[in-house]
Amino acid sequence: MDSDPHAPLWRHVTIRCYRELNDFLPVASRERRFQFRFSGQASLKSVLEGAGVPQAEIDLVLVGGHPAALDHPITGGERLEAFPLLESPALDSFTPLRPRPLPDTFILDVNLGRLARLLRLSGLDCLYRRDLDDGEIVHLAGEQGRGILTRDKGILHRSAVIHGYWVRSTDPERQLIEVIHHFGLERRLRFFSRCIRCNGLLHTISRDDVRDRVPTGAWREHRHFFVCDGCGQVYWRGSHYRSMTQTLTRLGLLSKTQGPESGP
Ligand SMILES: [Zn+2]
Repeated sequence: MDSDPHAPLWRHVTIRCYRELNDFLPVASRERRFQFRFSGQASLKSVLEGAGVPQAEIDLVLVGGHPAALDHPITGGERLEAFPLLESPALDSFTPLRPRPLPDTFILDVNLGRLARLLRLSGLDCLYRRDLDDGEIVHLAGEQGRGILTRDKGILHRSAVIHGYWVRSTDPERQLIEVIHHFGLERRLRFFSRCIRCNGLLHTISRDDVRDRVPTGAWREHRHFFVCDGCGQVYWRGSHYRSMTQTLTRLGLLSKTQGPESGP
């Protein structure tokens, strides 16, 4: 029987993804070596993205046991191992694909408004605007050195994305923990130091200066007030502050004996 002369010439590689990169694979391919089929010219990036893994989440790839760049040509028969952001000392001898240090400022897609507020509450510089499209997010991230946080995996396939993370959870509090852990931000947190509305920094302001800017009850009840250098919003340690303190304590981010370092 003659073979079809127009049929593509299939090539195969075996792929093993580690840790959270498995989240992008079909269940049958997770935590195991699997075979991936492709045809034509291919690079490491095109093969791994063809398998579903966005380039922005890959931090190291071994081809036949040796580190390789994402534009490394793939001809078939190779054994690929892909790793997410590395923490393991055993892998320190390899140079990761993502430049260090990891970002501690971020830009968030339109789906992550509540996460943006929680990250700002934790003192992290977060750009969040509802009017940005994917191209503008990628551009601003590159220009300002921000990591991209997204619920849209598609954006992380773009080659221009240097640091990006697909937020797995749909629950904002879990998302906060996820991002802190993924980027190793535990020591960068400065609770209540930033405006949750506009991302501006908060400064103390004298009680006399806010008399006409806050409700009378709040003015009578509180001694310390804080103002945002961006939008002018005045904050004080009221019921919202107490409930957020409880939330941060419950999440293990703020110990019961540790008060916020600054801000309301
Ligand atoms: Zn503000």
